[in-house]
Amino acid sequence: TPKPSNKMIEAHDLLRKFYHHLLVNTKEGQEAYDYLIGRGFTREVIDEFEIGFALDSWEFVTKFLTKRGYEPEELEKAGILVKREGKDSYLDRFRNRIMFPLADLQGKTVAFSGRILGEGQPKYLNTPETSIFSKGKILYNFHRAKKHIRKNQEVILLEGYADVIAAHKAGCFNGVATMGTALTEEQAATIKRNVENVIICYDSDGAGIEAAYKAGQVLTKVGCTVKVAVMPSGYDPDDYVNQYGTEAFRGEVLEASLTLMAFKMRYLRRGKNLQNEAERIRYIDEVVKEISLLPRAVERDHYLRQISQEFSLSLDALKQETQQNNRFEK
Ligand code: ATP
Ligand code: MN
Ligand code: MN
Ligand code: MN
Repeated sequence: TPKPSNKMIEAHDLLRKFYHHLLVNTKEGQEAYDYLIGRGFTREVIDEFEIGFALDSWEFVTKFLTKRGYEPEELEKAGILVKREGKDSYLDRFRNRIMFPLADLQGKTVAFSGRILGEGQPKYLNTPETSIFSKGKILYNFHRAKKHIRKNQEVILLEGYADVIAAHKAGCFNGVATMGTALTEEQAATIKRNVENVIICYDSDGAGIEAAYKAGQVLTKVGCTVKVAVMPSGYDPDDYVNQYGTEAFRGEVLEASLTLMAFKMRYLRRGKNLQNEAERIRYIDEVVKEISLLPRAVERDHYLRQISQEFSLSLDALKQETQQNNRFEK
């Protein structure tokens, strides 16, 4: 008899193909298909990422899989079905949603994320944590991106599935994403095992900027060299590609990405009025503190000169400041 985990993966495999079939070949999937096309998804990426559709039904998947020899109990453990409260019967977890298969690092489908058509809550519904799916471990698209990551010696870290797919449309096949949660050390370690250079390309909104800062810290800690791509306020990579095109995304977003330190300077500047003396000094203190944490003397020197010029401060005074910071750190 097969191991339970193999059985769970088999069920996901079957379901992924079935959801995809429903999206691209059936009348029931037409509205979802049109929604995706309307959002700029092409047939090519729908096939490549095996995007699918879950019918508006409470029992379609339950019947489909139990007929094929899967036990409802094991399907519930796999996160595919939900047990009815206080009853001995089961329901489909995903109903009337666009289905994004989530693969583990080896490429086996271990979960799904289902997007609602249009507005509504929750926007994405994920498989819960199971024995084969842990959202803090996997990276969306990693198994497809791996060879491109190694070839380009660079990975692009994005926020959402649609963003990875938008990057793919722009010819950037080295994009991965987390599952709507902060980048974990484990995910960062997976990245570092494959590549040193990371471009963080998160949404250009408050949450995205905050998350980019944190991901930068985690990636630096595991030894990656980080850059941060920035977009006009309010855009995410998917919106940006739809609005400005793939060439602009490559040229004006990715190519123009900032070093992590330059991004941090922008980040620390947010909400401060640098014309105000007290706020200006606080900004300088914060930046100098960050600079003093940089591992390389050349880098520290570079940014200190920048600050010294911008605020007409003596380089010596700034250097003293970093040395003091260093003494306190140790
Ligand atoms: P879309 O372009 O389809 O509107 P998005 O990727 O821009 O989606 P965001 O709100 O920016 O959506 O969220 C980023 C990512 O966070 C999503 O791609 C998804 O992985 C995850 N996410 C968002 N909302 C939820 C939710 N309610 N539950 C779980 N994960 C979510
Ligand atoms: Mn977002
Ligand atoms: Mn987004
Ligand atoms: Mn989006």
